[in-house]
Amino acid sequence: MSDTFKALLVSRDENKNQSVDIVELSEDDLMEGDVTVAVEATTVNYKDGLAITGKAPVIRRWPLVPGIDFAGTVIASDNAQWKVGDRVILNGWGVGETHHGAFAGRARVKGEWLVPLPAAMTPVDAMAVGTAGYTAMLCVMALERHGITPERGPVVVTGAAGGVGSVAVSVLSKLGYHVIASTGRPAEAGFLKELGAAEVIAREELEAPAKPLGKERWAGGIDAVGSNTLANVLSMTAYGGAVAACGLAGGMDLPGSVAPFILRGVSLLGIDSVMAPRDIRLEAWRRIEQDLDHGKLTALSTLMPFDALVNAAHDIVAGKVRGRLVIEM
Ligand code: NDP
Repeated sequence: MSDTFKALLVSRDENKNQSVDIVELSEDDLMEGDVTVAVEATTVNYKDGLAITGKAPVIRRWPLVPGIDFAGTVIASDNAQWKVGDRVILNGWGVGETHHGAFAGRARVKGEWLVPLPAAMTPVDAMAVGTAGYTAMLCVMALERHGITPERGPVVVTGAAGGVGSVAVSVLSKLGYHVIASTGRPAEAGFLKELGAAEVIAREELEAPAKPLGKERWAGGIDAVGSNTLANVLSMTAYGGAVAACGLAGGMDLPGSVAPFILRGVSLLGIDSVMAPRDIRLEAWRRIEQDLDHGKLTALSTLMPFDALVNAAHDIVAGKVRGRLVIEM
């Protein structure tokens, strides 16, 4: 194995202008950690797009290798839990934000941040899921904990043609839910139906300022968009329903009313993937292996070379990416 490896490095000058370069690094350049991994696959999430474009302050230590997700093989370990040759996944924990991340041939991290690659999955499969897909599963598990079953009625997914959305549509449909997919890209209606959406609705239906209460349209929802969209989803949730909120692709605000909570007993379930405890991660990956159809995973993901990373980052922030992007190293 070569002593150096390719990495994407984001730097900042004294005026806080950001630059992005592909560089050669060595293991001496990596940060502290007790496990070193040869990165075999990574992916571009919305957050990686924000980091590379500098559109939001995701990176908080400079210079930094971004990339919040990787899958690969352990090549050195001082951690009793992991040995050389183990196949692992990393999602989050501040990697790609304050710790050198996934957009490099190697990564050194804390062993406690890693989970095993499920036996039936390749590194490319795991990155086709990535943080977006694992978050979609956290949302599904939260709805289930709240008692939202297919018998309770439809479930809406917003930002449906994106990463979180496309995995959420696939999993919910496999579990037997009537999935209503909301998208701003009517051209992706066929794609969403292939993934299992029973209905596709236009993003505009949920974009105007929300009324305190709307017609009850669904038993639950998974929202990757935030702002008016989330407020509308809540206002149209049936009595006793629940909405899992994980994203802000449309804005970080929540301009709604308390009416759905106090008049319909609707619950808003907050979802964080970055610091989620290990037992929940292990359960989410077990459920992904069980409840995400491999054919659909292939259909919703696009394989790209490392050199395409920067363009992909701009595309995902512009809302142009369909499904999930995977980078094979
Ligand atoms: P993607 O860009 O792949 O998907 C986001 C989707 O949202 C787009 O595809 C688009 O779907 C829709 N969208 C984009 N811009 C707008 C807009 N201005 N108004 C309304 N809808 C819009 O991103 P990801 O799936 O990777 O992430 C989705 C969100 O979830 C992000 O905000 C991300 O930060 C967040 N996230 C949060 C996590 C957590 O731990 N809480 C973990 C992972 C992601 P369409 O074209 O179908 O309308």
